[in-house]
Amino acid sequence: APVIGVLALQGDVREHLAALAAVGADARPVRRPGELDAVDGLVIPGGESTTISKLVDIFELREPIDKRIAGGMPVYGSCAGMIMLAAEVLDGRPDQRGFAGIEMTVRRNAFGRQVDSFEAAVEINGVPGEPFHAVFIRAPWVERVGAGVEVIGTVTGGPAADRIVAVRQGNLLATSFHPELTGDLRVHAYFAELVRAA
Ligand code: GLN
Repeated sequence: APVIGVLALQGDVREHLAALAAVGADARPVRRPGELDAVDGLVIPGGESTTISKLVDIFELREPIDKRIAGGMPVYGSCAGMIMLAAEVLDGRPDQRGFAGIEMTVRRNAFGRQVDSFEAAVEINGVPGEPFHAVFIRAPWVERVGAGVEVIGTVTGGPAADRIVAVRQGNLLATSFHPELTGDLRVHAYFAELVRAA
């Protein structure tokens, strides 16, 4: 089974560990550089990107994670995790810093201006079956993608129609929504496959 870590500094770590275990991965929390060394892939959970950014420095994980990303380790970021993978963040805090893995600009709390959370249908290329029943909680959306980024998911209808909410660049995957909260394991299965293939 692929060994997949969940960055366990803040956010919905348990839900990701459970979803990864359910798709057959050996899922482990990662808080220390030594634990990072032992994983084949990493999930950055939903939570608060400004807090995760601070804790990444305090736990001395910034450089080790940057290095693993540069070395091709697959990473999946959901919501705050998406923000941590973006090259550019709009409406971020000036001191927050991500891993700049994906050439994209995300707008933080984009869907949260009128309402804190909402739900919408999202189709993801490469993930067969029904559209996702996607849950967004003070979620970012993607405003710009670079040439190397594949847009794999957009909102299918409603006021946020066509907003980009899932992207992939090489071994890096990000979604604005939280599949770990809805019991739909297809994104985690897709990511586990990506880790197996890497
Ligand atoms: N608004 C949060 C942030 O800026 C993201 C919310 C979430 O992960 N559910 O990081």
